[in-house]
Amino acid sequence: MPRPNRGFLTDEEKANKPKITLKLIRRITSYLAPYWKQIILVLAAIALAAVFGLLPAILTGRIIDEAIGGQNLSLLVNLILIALGVIVLSNLISILENYLNSWIAQHISYDIRNKMFTHIQTMSHRFFTNNRQGDIITRMTSDISGIQSTFANTYSSIIRNVITLTVALIAMFRVNWILALVALAIVPLFSIPTKRVGKTRWMLTRQSQEQNDKINDILNETLSVSGQLLVKLFNNEQREFNRYEKSNARMVQINIRESLAGRWFRAALSIFASTGPMLIYLVGGLLMIRYGSALTIGDIIVMVALLDRMYRPVNALMSIQVDIVRSMALFTRIFEYLDLPTEIKNAEQPLVPDRISGDLAFEHVQFDYDPKKALLRDISFEVKSGHSLAIVGPSGAGKSSIINLIPRLYDVTGGKITLDGTDIREIDLAVLRQSIGMVTQDTYLFNGTIRENLMYANPEATDDDLIEACRKANLHDFILAQPDGYDTVVGNRGLKLSGGEKQRVSIARVILKDPPILIFDEATSSLDSISENLIQEAIDPLIRGRTSIIIAHRLSTIMAADSIMVVRDGRVIEAGRHRDLVNNGGLYNQLYETQFKLALENQA
Ligand code: ADP
Repeated sequence: MPRPNRGFLTDEEKANKPKITLKLIRRITSYLAPYWKQIILVLAAIALAAVFGLLPAILTGRIIDEAIGGQNLSLLVNLILIALGVIVLSNLISILENYLNSWIAQHISYDIRNKMFTHIQTMSHRFFTNNRQGDIITRMTSDISGIQSTFANTYSSIIRNVITLTVALIAMFRVNWILALVALAIVPLFSIPTKRVGKTRWMLTRQSQEQNDKINDILNETLSVSGQLLVKLFNNEQREFNRYEKSNARMVQINIRESLAGRWFRAALSIFASTGPMLIYLVGGLLMIRYGSALTIGDIIVMVALLDRMYRPVNALMSIQVDIVRSMALFTRIFEYLDLPTEIKNAEQPLVPDRISGDLAFEHVQFDYDPKKALLRDISFEVKSGHSLAIVGPSGAGKSSIINLIPRLYDVTGGKITLDGTDIREIDLAVLRQSIGMVTQDTYLFNGTIRENLMYANPEATDDDLIEACRKANLHDFILAQPDGYDTVVGNRGLKLSGGEKQRVSIARVILKDPPILIFDEATSSLDSISENLIQEAIDPLIRGRTSIIIAHRLSTIMAADSIMVVRDGRVIEAGRHRDLVNNGGLYNQLYETQFKLALENQA
């Protein structure tokens, strides 16, 4: 059993290949349900096309025996005209069928894509930190395209072939039951190679998809902006190429094996299929020559024509089994994702408070990323509405983990966090997140304009709102100095902006959001003092009147806070005001002497 609260798959689960079960088929078919009207239309088109497709073969008997044999020219012309008309009609119907099929398939994959996107968006921060981006993208793109073709081709092909087969069999038995039985005798031979090929294909499909993930991952890692930077600076082009080339070569191998697996199979089928007509000539000839049967030459020709019409669907149905196996592997991969439980769930009856005043408290909070390794232990503190708390401590102490718990990027594993006295897990998730503004060191900007990035916080903001927010964030003058002003493109992940500029965009975003709670992860040393001052000037008025928690590194921020909390190894070891903490002579005093003071001197 997968651990239900961990939103990712273990290798062990991935290795356990799922089987084709009735449940799986039912689930796949359920995606067809909304389109039942179109499906009925397709079925009708398929049935008509199948019957019309067989008619010319059946008419051949009459053309040979009655028209040519009976030397009846007008019957000959009529029969030929009918046969031609039927062929044209059946092709026209096939076009309609194709259109409907692709319409249905496109709509189904549209539904699945939307469902998958929505579901993946409910996945926790943990899911995105633990899963490879390549894997997520492949499932969203090529896996879904793969099953789209199942719906477009496989399903309809099954129906078309079953109908054609049935009609062909009926027609054959009507001509001569002995010859029909002879034709049928060969069918079991078709199924022998199918089973083995199915198994090999299943394995190869899975392998090929996993290889595809790997390649996508390598591409994502090495061809992204930051990835390429790393590669270049460490001169690792050759190493990355070798890694890529190896995966690429493996993919080639798998693909060749995959296509050969089908090829041997098709060769065997075609040999069995060519034996059929010979047998019909032999038995038909015997019946006519030796046993004076009433069979005619026309009958035998019809039988051979129908035989071809019968083996084609049998052949197709057999190789469809291979396609089905292939698509099942894809469906299974998609369902694996759709079945991942949502880790951070909204309460069943979430509270929607009228107003959030911002009293925040941690009560004996425990938290770990991995159950085997406890991180936060017994964290308790309180920040009253409008007050500020500075968190200090060595790197790796758990400071970021503490703040990530507040907007529920992760849930506590023990104790609770309350907002205005209510457990945050009972508050509506959207309301909770709306009431928190977070400015982190790693600012994410979309590749768009400054305006678009700002509007992300509040799509209804007017130009005046934007300008006001940017003024407050000390960003307005910088933006005006750009050739395109607010329409300046920030580049991939905002890389065209400096660290300080990005943080100020992020502060402007928070100002536009105007939340009662502010969480700020102060930059450590990446910023020069001018940028720092610009940010500080923007932050100071923002903090006033809001509940704020700041992971602080600079003495001025720490001293400005209403209270200070010192964290080490996931525990609160000291708390209080600057003076008292210095006098205590504990870790805070140590940090003060070695870091904060130094930073202050550097700034001076
Ligand atoms: P700080 O902000 O004080 O530097 P963090 O809260 O970032 O500390 O990290 C605390 C510990 O948790 C570190 O040992 C870090 O390796 C670990 N950690 C942080 N994020 C994750 C994660 N997503 N998964 C697993 N471990 C993590």
